[in-house]
Formats: sequence, C-alpha cells, structure tokens
Amino acid sequence: MNSMIRNVYCVGRNYRLHAEELGNEVPTEPLIFLKPSHAVVKMEGQEISLPANRGEIHYEAELVIRIGRPYEKGKSIQELVDVIALGIDFTLRDVQTVLKKKGHPWTSAKGFLGSAPITPFFALPAQSELEGTDFVLLKNGAEAQRGNIKNMIFSLQQIVDYIAQHYGLGEGDLIFTGTPEGVGRMAAGDKLELFWGERALGSFRMGSRES
Ligand code: ZN
Repeated sequence: MNSMIRNVYCVGRNYRLHAEELGNEVPTEPLIFLKPSHAVVKMEGQEISLPANRGEIHYEAELVIRIGRPYEKGKSIQELVDVIALGIDFTLRDVQTVLKKKGHPWTSAKGFLGSAPITPFFALPAQSELEGTDFVLLKNGAEAQRGNIKNMIFSLQQIVDYIAQHYGLGEGDLIFTGTPEGVGRMAAGDKLELFWGERALGSFRMGSRES
C-alpha cells in the first residue's frame, strides 16, 4: 500500500448535533477546509506536543478516508477509497472564534503542527460494516465521542464528489469527514484512544508546547 499523503481536506459541520452544540447553522452544502499535510502525525502511543498558550484546544474525532485511485465522476466510494483511519481534527477554539468573527481563514486554528493525528490505516470495509460500526473516542478512559456515518449530513459519496468537482481529488488525498457531538477541551497529559467498534486503533497523550 502506498501511504503517501497529499492534500488533507476536512469537512466542517457534517453532523447536525455537532453543528448545533457550537451554535452553527446546519450547512446546505459541504463546508470544506484544508490542513497542511505536515499537520498529520501517526498515533503510536507517544506524546504529541500541541500549543498550550493559545486558548482552548479541542479534540474532534473523525473518520478519515484515503483516496487510492484517480477520481472519475461516477466512481463509487468503494472504488475510490482504499484505506480508512480515525483521526483527530485538533482545533484552537478560541483562535477559531476570533477568525470567524473577522472572516479570516482557519489555518492558524486548524492547521498547526500536530493538529491532525491519525491511527494506522486499514482496508475500507463494506458499506454495511461502515454503517454498522460506531467510532469511539475515549479521553482518559471515559467515552467522549461516539460517531456513525449514518448520522452524516453529507454522505462519503457526496463529500468525495463535491471536493473532486470544486478542488480536485487524487491518489494520496485524505479527507477528515467531520466530527459528531461531544467535542471538548484538552489539557497537557490527557490521553486519547480511538476505537473502530470494539477494536483499538491508536492512542497518544497530549504534550504541551508554546505556540
Ligand atoms: Zn472537524
């Protein structure tokens, strides 16, 4: 398997209850933003240092898909995606609130180094398993988030087609597909663990750095 990572697309507000918990409108078309590929870091039980001096930092657990073949209109998710993982879309929430008010891009709130930890990839399951399996985030051993793609506002297929049509999509591109409700604050030393159903996929601890 080729594990090259190219573009890192993210979908905002793709679960109704999460959009509502932040007081955002539920979107009528996909809200897409990007992270630098340098933000991606593999979870290996290690400590990942994150900014501790820029206001609240929130975890957002998300299903991550990797495009494995050249995009062509009409191709299904099962044809386009080779592997998936779970990831955290770390967000400097106070910074983001200021950026939103000013109408500025989200890069400094969402694209900082270490802002996109991902578990090891595994082969894309059949649609029935995708819809029949919850992904779960534990924070310090307690369940913090539970998501299921059945609750997405825009389906994986709609997201892939939308991104391809507007921005282009190719082999090696990752898509963070949005977070369910339950996002919350992190502090140095907190441990996050991600599960696909009962299966532990990856974990790490938050370390702190200045900026
Ligand atoms: Zn997110």
